[in-house]
Amino acid sequence: MQVHELFDYHATQRPDDCCLIFNGEKLSYGTVGDMARTIAAGLAAEGVQAGHRVAILCQNCPEYLAFLMACSQLGAVAVPLNYRLAPAEIAYVLADAQVHLLLNPDTELEPLLLSLLDSDDEAPRCIAHTERAALSWDEWLSNASGKSFTAVDQGPEAFLQLYTSGTTGHPKGVVLSHANLVSLFTISTVSAPHKAGADTVDLVSAPNFHIGGSGTLLLPIMAGGSVVLHKTFDPFALVNDVEQYKVDHMFIVPAMILAVISMVPDLDKRDFSHLKQIMYGASPITTDLLEQALKIFQCDFAQVYGMTETTGSIVMLTPADHQRALKDKPELLQSCGRPQAGVAVKICDPDGKELPAGETGELWIRSGSNMLEYYNNEGATAETLINGWIRTGDSGVKDEEGFLYLRDRIKDMIVSGGENIYPIEIENVLSRHPAIADVAVVGIPNEKYGEAPLACVALKPEQSLSEDEMIDYCRDKLAGYKIPRQLQIMEALPRNPSGKILKKELRAPHWEGKERNI
Ligand code: ATP
Ligand code: MG
Repeated sequence: MQVHELFDYHATQRPDDCCLIFNGEKLSYGTVGDMARTIAAGLAAEGVQAGHRVAILCQNCPEYLAFLMACSQLGAVAVPLNYRLAPAEIAYVLADAQVHLLLNPDTELEPLLLSLLDSDDEAPRCIAHTERAALSWDEWLSNASGKSFTAVDQGPEAFLQLYTSGTTGHPKGVVLSHANLVSLFTISTVSAPHKAGADTVDLVSAPNFHIGGSGTLLLPIMAGGSVVLHKTFDPFALVNDVEQYKVDHMFIVPAMILAVISMVPDLDKRDFSHLKQIMYGASPITTDLLEQALKIFQCDFAQVYGMTETTGSIVMLTPADHQRALKDKPELLQSCGRPQAGVAVKICDPDGKELPAGETGELWIRSGSNMLEYYNNEGATAETLINGWIRTGDSGVKDEEGFLYLRDRIKDMIVSGGENIYPIEIENVLSRHPAIADVAVVGIPNEKYGEAPLACVALKPEQSLSEDEMIDYCRDKLAGYKIPRQLQIMEALPRNPSGKILKKELRAPHWEGKERNI
């Protein structure tokens, strides 16, 4: 089954039903289907064949969904580009993916495209609004309009190639198949309490180049629902559209929930009665924020854990788990939940041997949504995909009931004098210090212990903190070897576009010329 076949079913059965709402305009399944056929004809005229990689540079827009369906029809592989990267980083991705053609339907990203074309001699043929493109977007579309093309009967397995956030190294091209998306659809239909259907109205504001943006767009569309598509996240537009379009489901990260609550006034006067569920991920939510959000939105909350390599969410802390946490088990909010239907998660030691409940190790995942491979990277694929399991690189622990508690990424763990130190434990202590606004703990070289923790801290306005004060504060809260002896005060901690702290950047200056073994 190819993803576009599900879309085509809805476009044939219910062509006039709403598929997307974008900038106040409603686009039916029939309209988006026409757009997809035109783009497919344009791609075919460019010689795009099954298995070719085609890149697209755009913020969320209807053309993106039509492009995905066009690629699916031709058996081509869609490569959405992260427009927050620098031109040299985009050039890296284009070369890594061996892109056949680059589409840029988004005029707002023209400056980025121009600096990419300036700096990248090897850039692929490009269709865009700028005169510098091989062909202008409008001309390309009008040439293709009404032309026929041959859809593949049995295309390759690959459908979507998403690059990881690059939190821990160079971004890697995660190759996801049609079957991976269909599997994700099944996983979420069977186990998620809120099931997408033809009457679903979902709001998508996460960027398309992340699985959080592409997966959350494709799932409701595969179900025949409607998506209110936001070009980017805007807390004011989000609140207006949830109310106006009677949105019943959306995925956002806790930082976005916080932005909505702290920036948009008079939320208690708004009508969110149609909202059934807010799904959040990428980090846990605090009890305080959850309680505020529950009061305002009065809907179910679900936390999800997943990664690009698993086509997104495969572990869930359900709304019932949230209720239980608020009633009598507050620590449950620190858990990312239990595996969803058809997904297995085991905690393993470094040799891949499964550990019992209560012991910390690496999370391994088996799911029908596990990626095919890292593109063109046999070494990384062999390290990550082992007998159908994915080694996540995340460490965590399972309790007796099977709830998973994430610790840290393995690469971020600190090995000091033979002891494993999980930075999150230290961060949890320091984040409660009244002077500290933001904190990250990383391992730096230490002659005696091999590695030792360094606390990188951003202070609240007009606050100060000395190393001695920090050590004193930690004294009765952490074991001696876990207490950071060094403090680095920073304006702000470096983060990537998905809001994750870039620990490799914090570590780098301390490790110059030295080898880190993890
Ligand atoms: P790279 O692999 O290039 O270093 P990345 O791992 O940040 O980048 P993603 O696939 O976007 O790229 O992110 C997946 C990671 O996000 C997971 O491995 C995990 O570390 C983190 N994550 C996902 N969901 C949660 C959650 N609910 N709570 C805490 N962390 C989460
Ligand atoms: Mg990763």
